[in-house]
Amino acid sequence: MSKEPNHFEISKHKDYLYVIKENISLVHPVFTNDPLNIYLLLGTHTALLLDTGCGLFPIKPIVNELIGKRKLLVFNTHSDWDHPLGNVEFEEVYIHENEVEFVSKPYDVSYFKDSPNEIVKVYEEQNFLIPPAKVIRPLKDGNVFDLGEIGVEVIHCPGHSAGSICLLTSTGELFTSDVAYYGHQFLPKKEDFPEVLNTLSKLINICKKQEMVELYPSHRKYPCDVTLLTDLYSGIVNIENLWDKKKPFDFFEAWLIDDPNGKFRYYVSKT
Ligand SMILES: [Zn+2]
Repeated sequence: MSKEPNHFEISKHKDYLYVIKENISLVHPVFTNDPLNIYLLLGTHTALLLDTGCGLFPIKPIVNELIGKRKLLVFNTHSDWDHPLGNVEFEEVYIHENEVEFVSKPYDVSYFKDSPNEIVKVYEEQNFLIPPAKVIRPLKDGNVFDLGEIGVEVIHCPGHSAGSICLLTSTGELFTSDVAYYGHQFLPKKEDFPEVLNTLSKLINICKKQEMVELYPSHRKYPCDVTLLTDLYSGIVNIENLWDKKKPFDFFEAWLIDDPNGKFRYYVSKT
């Protein structure tokens, strides 16, 4: 990894919440959901880093400076490449049990070999195999972590991937990972949409039960409100009506469909 002081954009969103932003389109122009939002929650005795990013430049020194003497927990929202590639910098990383295996071995990013972007040299130097963290620990739905004055609950949210998680805090934040954001959505094949919709319903119900929940997606705009979830739910239901307009998108082996509301583009997996 090289040093590049301005690669990450760091902003303090609340006294206890930092957002570390990384532009993933730097790696390949087909990835358009800039920025990736890496969240850092600061409890009184423990900090939680949600994702480690693309692994292009060191993130640990930034995190260490922000957390002071607190203990650090590192989670991956899921195993898609833009979220766990900085894991190697950390001793121990948590991920949902369904995706433990995927991030326990060197991560193959050879699909970036043909990227027109200079920065992929960082991956090339590692033969497009990015090493994992030393220890990977499994998370399950309902696991609770105490950061000191902030409690964090793990919610298993399958659909975008088998082990996607969202986090609900006792301070009223819902971190929605890649399960919901405004932008280009990566969806499983059409037969698996019921699982995606179940997950979105579960999150909508959680928001309804709480007095105030702010949504913090892993890409693009934050915070959002429950409308993000209801917009995405109805958009995915409506894909059936747009199915004749689909176009092939070979890089992702997917069908591309633009939502006429302009809020989402869908890549629906062919396999
Ligand atoms: Zn992502």
